[in-house]
Amino acid sequence: MLRLDLDVYSTVSDALGYAWADRMVVAAGRRIRDVLGPEVPLARLEGASFAALLLDRTAEETHAVAERLRAESSDPYPVEKLSVEANAMVGYACTNVAGDDGNPPDVDALLQRADVAVRATRGGEEVRGYVPSMGQIFLRRFQLVTQFRQALEDGQVSVHYQPKVSLPDKNVVGVEALVRWVHPEFGRVNPDEFVPAVEATGLVGVLTSFVLDQALDRVRRWLDEGIEISVAVNLSVRSLADEDFAHQVADALARHGVPARLLTFEITESAVMADPQRALPILGELHDLGIELAVDDFGTGYSSLAYLRRLPVDQVKIDKSFVFGMSSDLGDLAVVRSIVELGHSLGLSVVAEGVEDDSSRDQLEAMGCDVAQGYLISRPLAEDRLEAWLVARTARSSGHRDETVLTLLT
Ligand code: C2E
Ligand code: CA
Ligand code: CA
Repeated sequence: MLRLDLDVYSTVSDALGYAWADRMVVAAGRRIRDVLGPEVPLARLEGASFAALLLDRTAEETHAVAERLRAESSDPYPVEKLSVEANAMVGYACTNVAGDDGNPPDVDALLQRADVAVRATRGGEEVRGYVPSMGQIFLRRFQLVTQFRQALEDGQVSVHYQPKVSLPDKNVVGVEALVRWVHPEFGRVNPDEFVPAVEATGLVGVLTSFVLDQALDRVRRWLDEGIEISVAVNLSVRSLADEDFAHQVADALARHGVPARLLTFEITESAVMADPQRALPILGELHDLGIELAVDDFGTGYSSLAYLRRLPVDQVKIDKSFVFGMSSDLGDLAVVRSIVELGHSLGLSVVAEGVEDDSSRDQLEAMGCDVAQGYLISRPLAEDRLEAWLVARTARSSGHRDETVLTLLT
């Protein structure tokens, strides 16, 4: 069972209407039919997704057909006077992979497996044949998503904090709040795995407000000790689509009695670019509240320079992949240096994440990078361990506004 999904159907129907989108489907159907020949059963399932049933083929032969289908249907489609670039995602499932009951899969199971294989193509980068481990991954993802809310209530989710220090004076200026989930069955689940899953289901508001609450509570208790440390919270795309978001944040700040300048939001460029029309006004409101905005993973997007000027941001965070490489790779070093210079020329403060060794830290300092974060300074720590770290690893002195300043001991 082969499945083919074209990714542009909804874009074309939104922009030009269903009639044009359907013409594209017809054109795609013809191309698929040309590859498969007249005998093969072919169906349009919905939108621009198709299924075909190949009989008496080996997995290798099926794979070769899938590759050809992908190539043929990814060629641009002429639509009105435009040429629409389409991306075909192709996956397939074979009957020789038994189900849980040991029997060959029936038609429904095959269709569902082919669908799982399509989703595993990561946007069509390659053709994928279904293997049982894919089913496991989707089952796990399903469990993570459905169990997340309960996990919050059951105390399985917590926030860790990773210190950021200013260069060259090494004062602890802030911490980044990083969410952690210890699942009863899977153990520690990486946020890179569950945050995107939670994001895809609209539960991300629950996640963000949980992290924000914890983080502001932490900052408030430092303030009570006379210590000013800001906290950075990661935002996802979905938060930037919620028109009420800035109000919710203003409420949270007021509830905890924390001044807005001690809160930073880290946003990736791709999160803003997903829907700039919606995201930009929300970022503007947050900025007007006095919250600091940082562009996270800077250097990994591709419209960086042009957009940085248009975003109401205060900070760029150089992606850790460049920082890791900077002491051994001249290219990475050049990227880091350019970002520092670019950031400063736009009046932004520049943070480097992923600082793992002394030589990177020294080079960053020499370039004038403002803040460093990374394993060299500390890993992300649970709240009690962060407190212990602050006591053991920093010295306290009085700042010019009489606040307590914590300076990293070397
Ligand atoms: P990020 O925002 O880029 O966070 C930095 C990641 O780099 C963290 O991984 C941190 O532990 C890791 N890191 C920091 N310093 C070093 C270093 O020196 N060396 C190495 N090898 N790694 C370092 P973590 O905690 O696994 O978070 C992964 C991603 O998950 C984050 O990337 C962020 O995108 C997302 N995330 C984490 N917490 C939240 C949250 O509360 N909300 C949202 N929306 N996303 C979150
Ligand atoms: Ca971040
Ligand atoms: Ca980052």
